[in-house]
Amino acid sequence: MATYIILLGPPGVGKGTQAEILAEQTGLAHVSTGELFREHIKNKTELGILANYFMHKGELVPDDVTIAMVKDRIMRPDCEAGVVLDGFPRTPVQADAANSMLNEIGAKVDVVPYITAPKEVIVERLSSRWTCRESGHIFNVAFNPPLKVGVCDFDGSELYQRDDDKAETVQKRIQVYLDRTSPLIEYYRTVGILHEIRGDQEIEQVTKELLDALKK
Ligand code: AMP
Repeated sequence: MATYIILLGPPGVGKGTQAEILAEQTGLAHVSTGELFREHIKNKTELGILANYFMHKGELVPDDVTIAMVKDRIMRPDCEAGVVLDGFPRTPVQADAANSMLNEIGAKVDVVPYITAPKEVIVERLSSRWTCRESGHIFNVAFNPPLKVGVCDFDGSELYQRDDDKAETVQKRIQVYLDRTSPLIEYYRTVGILHEIRGDQEIEQVTKELLDALKK
């Protein structure tokens, strides 16, 4: 039976970092919608041009195109054992779509770890986050630095600061999260699959608590 995990939490709380680790440790595929959009932007596809218009303002990409992209991605063979979804769903409409697409393949959302941290921590983390150009590996100059400044430990590619991690856009992204994504917390709590985890701890401790939540 395939396993589907949704990582919920504000931008900058560590979803991407933890999703990478979880995927590696569990053998599930890591599907990050932000990363998929950034790939499209890099490849200058039609979807990339559209997504970039919203992303650089800190707004959400429209539900219909986001849902279609995720549906296509999770049907690929590398997702057969299941998926760690990072950054999706982000709206109630997307949460409904996640339920229906999993329902269609006889699966369901198994667990929703909700990673939390105070706003100051999130803002600080976003402003010191550096991302790898090749495949989106995440570093933080203050808390999780690369071995060599400006270079990804995993694939040697250049590290850059995301356009939307700059101070002006960060505040907007947090507001969009509060307005549009935070209702999902109550939704998954009601379903009974939400596990709250403090994200303002050492990376290893957060991973440990995530793995414990999966065992339950
Ligand atoms: P992330 O890498 O998860 O921080 O996402 C970066 C940006 O991509 C977001 O601020 C949105 O503009 C866009 N994005 C990522 N995931 C979604 C989603 N599920 N729905 C709409 N927009 C998204």
